[in-house]
Amino acid sequence: MESSFKVDVDCPTCAREIEEKLSGLKGVIEVEVYAVSGRVLVEHTSEVTENELKSYIHELGYETSFEGSYLEYTSIWVGSRAIKTWIGGLFFITAFLVNFVFTGLEFYLISFYGHELFISSILYLASVVSAGTPIVKNGFRSIRNYDLNIDLLMTIAIFGAIGIGYYVEAAALAVLYSVAELLENYSINRARSSIRDLIDLSPEVAMLKTSDGLKEISVDKLNEEDVFVVQPGERIPMDGVVVEGSSLVNQAPITGESQPISKEKGDEVFAGSINDTGYIEARVIRKHSESTIQRIIQLVEAAESGQTKREKFVNRFASYYTPIVVLIAFFTILIPVLLGYSFETWFIRGLTFLVLACPCAFVISTPVSIVSGITSAARNGVLIKGGNILETMGEVDVVAFDKTGTLTSGEFQIDEIVPLNGYSEKDVVRYLYSLEQNSEHPIANAVSRYADKHEIKGERASDFESDTGLGISGEIDGRRYYAGNSDLFEKKGINIEKEVGEITSRLQRLGYTVILIGGLEKFIGVVGVRDSPRPEAGQVIDRLRSLGVEKVVMITGDNEKTANNVGKEVGVDSVYAGLLPEEKLRVIQDLKKEHVVAMVGDGINDAPALAEADVGIAMGAAGTDVAIETADIALMGDQISRIPYLLKLSIKSNKVIRQNIWSSLTVKFLLALGVPFGYVTVIIAVLVGDMGMSLGVTGNALRLSRTKP
Ligand code: ADP
Ligand code: MG
Repeated sequence: MESSFKVDVDCPTCAREIEEKLSGLKGVIEVEVYAVSGRVLVEHTSEVTENELKSYIHELGYETSFEGSYLEYTSIWVGSRAIKTWIGGLFFITAFLVNFVFTGLEFYLISFYGHELFISSILYLASVVSAGTPIVKNGFRSIRNYDLNIDLLMTIAIFGAIGIGYYVEAAALAVLYSVAELLENYSINRARSSIRDLIDLSPEVAMLKTSDGLKEISVDKLNEEDVFVVQPGERIPMDGVVVEGSSLVNQAPITGESQPISKEKGDEVFAGSINDTGYIEARVIRKHSESTIQRIIQLVEAAESGQTKREKFVNRFASYYTPIVVLIAFFTILIPVLLGYSFETWFIRGLTFLVLACPCAFVISTPVSIVSGITSAARNGVLIKGGNILETMGEVDVVAFDKTGTLTSGEFQIDEIVPLNGYSEKDVVRYLYSLEQNSEHPIANAVSRYADKHEIKGERASDFESDTGLGISGEIDGRRYYAGNSDLFEKKGINIEKEVGEITSRLQRLGYTVILIGGLEKFIGVVGVRDSPRPEAGQVIDRLRSLGVEKVVMITGDNEKTANNVGKEVGVDSVYAGLLPEEKLRVIQDLKKEHVVAMVGDGINDAPALAEADVGIAMGAAGTDVAIETADIALMGDQISRIPYLLKLSIKSNKVIRQNIWSSLTVKFLLALGVPFGYVTVIIAVLVGDMGMSLGVTGNALRLSRTKP
């Protein structure tokens, strides 16, 4: 069973806390809590129900709500916590003014257990009460749950400061720490709302075509086979196939490609894209919840789940860091006091250590960076399936490209037809067309286009078989025929006539991909097809090198001569040709021994190699469910120019994460060094170590969303 709902987590450490507590429950198999979206996903047995899980979370002190609302936007700066903070701040400023500037207003009130209370003291305390209540509440929650969270440490620090009459410090702690928390929430919310923007792309209603006119209907009420209408200028509400009309459609929201694409009868359109010019009618092909944009949204949300190595390191580190610093705080107070130094001085220094024990900045820095990077990639048509993948991508030093459809356009052209054994050109095309009608290979598209254009009809062959990377076969008029490269015929034990061999070599030298067509007894003909390298392929490869990729290779099932021609033209370092899918896989395994390898392919017949590579990148994934499902990264559009962008983004995000972790550690360390000498006060610790660092790391993370293709 699986339950999924939203919980109001406002800090990454809280998410971990809930995760840990839930996974200890009976009947719970696996738990994931996404810090950014607040989504809780629990896999469990029937021993525990969703309601029990929720009430347990409630007992831990968190609010839960229903599925669906987990990306709801609540403004951080006007929430109840914010208002308490602002009031606390006002009290603090007033107190400060009375205390140090308009000292005429200051007067002595009473003495209370040896504490001298002035007007300003009361104002400071009011500030603590207002800004500090939520902190203290969270602190007690942590005692109840038997763990050491940062709110508890802050609570101790605040009470400690009050206890020795350091009202300014107590108030500053309460106010500044609250502001730091608000900032943290704000940046989590920024990341959250960038996911929400994706959701806003797809319309909620569609115009359904019915027998008595058009009817507005909510998209989740539409069924497959329903026909909907889209006027020019409107967003397309569902994934569908055009059945009437034609138009230019801007698919940028899905694929990141901004040039409008012409759509005619039979073409697929995607929910969320914009119908620019014409009126179209389309037939629904996927339910709303399974539409391409919905899957993108689901995957982007789930992308938080794949923890990066650094994130794991940080979390492990944080779990040691806090208790160690707390111990330091304890000894900072104990030792000097035993040695007879001033209790007050060292007590407040100890409290300063408690404040420094907050791992906040470095715990939040990674998830925020990753969400920021992954969401901005999704907007540019690049779907990255997890933080760990973004991280690995940033370490890639070998990129392997598939040839057909990846480095080349995949749009084959039939240029040469050589009939044999008394057959005509038309016969050759007819047999080939009969066979290819069953195939989805780019070559098959070329054949069907050619047959249409020359009005050649061919019965669809029966008993179809495909030998991936070799070719296809089927029965025509009760006999078996084959179409593919010479390896296919060798495999089938068909002797390749001398003449056929010569024609094949001649065409291959000219750069053709050669298709032999024949039956068990004799050959019907040879066809030379060609697709050209993408014009931008050379530039893309240069750009990859300048980004630090050591080696760019091409891996293909096509013949060596053709492959070498293409390889030379686009400038790859090496070419591996004539490979079957499992041989492609072996090449990847070899490369992986010394390198971090990314493989770029079409995701359909390259699936094994894509799966084997450290990072598998599928091109042209919009509409092909398999590719979106299996690849680590899916390029929704068909542009290889997204690969350098992807690499740049990943390298940058690794850098940002590293900077964030090390700078926050360094700052904490330097602050800690200053404490025993009295250079770093409680106020500086919370101002710099908490508020400043939170601001710094999230600001740094948001830089990622500005990376442009
Ligand atoms: P690539 O690795 O370049 O993407 P494939 O693995 O898809 O190439 O195919 C390798 C070779 O197998 C092609 O170059 C072609 O000779 C042959 N082949 C594969 N599928 C077909 C088909 N449907 N019709 C004819 N030939 C095919
Ligand atoms: Mg291919």
